Parts: sequence; structure tokens; C-alpha cells
Amino acid sequence: MYMNTTEMNESKNQARVPVLAEELVEQAQAAALKQTADYAPGEREELIARIKSLLLKQDAVLVAHYYTSPELQQLAEETGGFVADSLEMARFGNEHPATTLIVAGVRFMGETAKILNPEKRVLMPDPAATCSLDLECPVDAFSQFCDEHPDHTVVVYANTSAEVKARADWVVTSGIALPIVEYLAGQKQRVLWAPDKHLGSYVQKSTGVEMLIWQGSCVIHERFTADGIKNLKLKYPGAAVLVHPESPAEVIEVADVVGSTTALINASKTMDVQEFIVATEPGIFYKMKQASPGKIFLEAPTGGISATCESCMRCPWMAMNGLRNLAEVLENVNNEIFVEEDIRRKALIPLQRMMDFAKKRPSLKVKGNA
Ligand code: SF4
Repeated sequence: MYMNTTEMNESKNQARVPVLAEELVEQAQAAALKQTADYAPGEREELIARIKSLLLKQDAVLVAHYYTSPELQQLAEETGGFVADSLEMARFGNEHPATTLIVAGVRFMGETAKILNPEKRVLMPDPAATCSLDLECPVDAFSQFCDEHPDHTVVVYANTSAEVKARADWVVTSGIALPIVEYLAGQKQRVLWAPDKHLGSYVQKSTGVEMLIWQGSCVIHERFTADGIKNLKLKYPGAAVLVHPESPAEVIEVADVVGSTTALINASKTMDVQEFIVATEPGIFYKMKQASPGKIFLEAPTGGISATCESCMRCPWMAMNGLRNLAEVLENVNNEIFVEEDIRRKALIPLQRMMDFAKKRPSLKVKGNA
């Protein structure tokens, strides 16, 4: 149950964290329905043909997140684009010669693409598609929290606005958060972490580093339940449980593998197991099934003993991306993402710091934000 955004949660660290308004989720679900509504006869084929032609005409490349619909991921791959997490999406855009990047994902991903590719035009099918972690970490309240703890190094997860990144010392993905926090602790630095409380607790528990943790959460990952997974395991006793660390601690405890989107896809490929219970957004099944067509992927249940509904785990903001608004944005060349130059330069510093950290440690990957 969400409260109004004007209400604030008082965390144990005195952070004044806004609580997500239920109507924002409902608005996103309504917008997503327009994209997922049944196609008229021939509409889907016509849209795909139009998008392919417009991508060429606009010198554009489509980069899609793992959590978008299978048809968008397939289209990205068929047209020479890319499917990945947000940082890899931005990096691909940087290396690709196209002058326009079409980012199918959520707003912070479009912003990250712009921060790393200022010379390119970045368009999104719907720039109102956002993320509960981003919404629950507005820059003013967050800056105040940072100001109250000036002796702490500010580490923020990739799922944040450009303004919040600009206020940070480090940006991290879930794939590189542990070594960076360990490194900072080794430098005797105190860590202030934002915005995801579950990922923050996981990093704290795994590294043993005490952190000040902002109390945001992902509305999707927070719904998974350990009891639901245990019950499903009774039916599929040989299944391996794959869990994204944005999930609650009790869900992480029942996991066989905890990791970033990329790590979970890799685990599904390499593990000698035929059935998987997956606790993350089900858009990821497209890449998992593509890599292992013979394996069975089951959605981890959410609240309720037998809750296994397919649609309830769809991120409503990711689902705002569809063929219809993708064709429109290519036709109209609108929905451009801009990041104020001063903010962009400041946000680039902690992003670059993370990438340089990874470069010096070739065994590490920065991949893995949601
Ligand atoms: S799945 Fe969660 S973390 Fe990912 S974009 Fe949606 S709300 Fe944000």
C-alpha cells in the first residue's frame, strides 16, 4: 500500500524518504495498457516494418533493456541494436556509429545514455516511464541527507536521476557494488548508500561494511516472497532459485544465485539445471530462453501462497515501451532526453570513476544494474 508522495517515511537514519504514491503506479499501468492492447489485424507487422524503415531514415539504433517486452528485444536484435542493462546500453550507443539512440527502458537509462553520449540525440518511446527507486530519491531531500552526513562518501545505484548522480561520489551497478564498497571501506571511508534499501542491506551484509542506507525500494522486486518460492520448490524440487538483490533479505536467503541481471542470465546458461525459479522482472526470460531454449523458467511467486500470476511482476514503467510509441517517436523525432550540461558534467564524474575502477580490475564487470 503506497501513500501520497507528500508523506515521508522516517528511516532509522533520519532520512526523509518520500513514499511512492499508488496513483503513480496506476498511471503507469494505464499508459502501459495502451502499448500492450491487442493489435488490429496486420497492425503489428505494419508497425515493425515502419520502425525498421524509420530507424534507417533517422540514422537511429534501438537499445532495449532486459525488462522490456520480448518483441522490443527481438526487434532491437534484428535491426542491429542491442539488449542489455542500462550502462551497457549507454556504452553500446557510444560505440555505435548511429547519431540517434532510441532507448527503450526507463528515464534514468535515457539520461545515462545522454550523460555518456552528449553529442548524440537520445529519444525514448515514453520519457514519462520512470522507476520507483528514482521516484523515491528526489534530489532535494537526498542532498539534504548528504549534507547532514558530510563525513560520508556518497555511493548511488545506477537507478537514480542525473541530478542525484551529480550529487554522488560514486555510481555503482549491482554487479560492481560489492568491490567498490569494500575498496572504500579499505580507504577508511564511511559510506552513505542510496536509494535501494534491499540492495544496500545485501551489500552491507556481504561486505560487513556498516553503511547509512536510504530507504527506497523497487516496487517489483519487493513483492517476491520467500514462502512463495519455498512452496514452488516443493513442486519443482530440482529448480535453482535465481534472485536479484533488489529483493528483500528473506528472498535472498533462499537463493541459489544472487546477482545482477547479467549474472542471472549467465547463471541460467551455465548451471547444469533444467528448471529455474526467477525472482526478477520477467522480461529477462526472453534472453534466458534464447540462450537455453530447452530449460524451464518459472516466475517466482509474489504475495499469497499460490500467487503466480504472470502480469503482476511486469514493471509498469518498462511496459510503457511498445511498438506503437516506438514508431511514433521515430516518426515525430520527439521525446528527446536532455540533461543540463552542468549536471551532466557532474554526473559523469562518479560514472567515470566506476568505469575506471572496473578497468583497473579486469576480472570485474560494471554490468548489472536493473
Ligand atoms: S523493475 Fe524496479 S528497479 Fe527496475 S525499472 Fe522497474 S521499478 Fe525500477
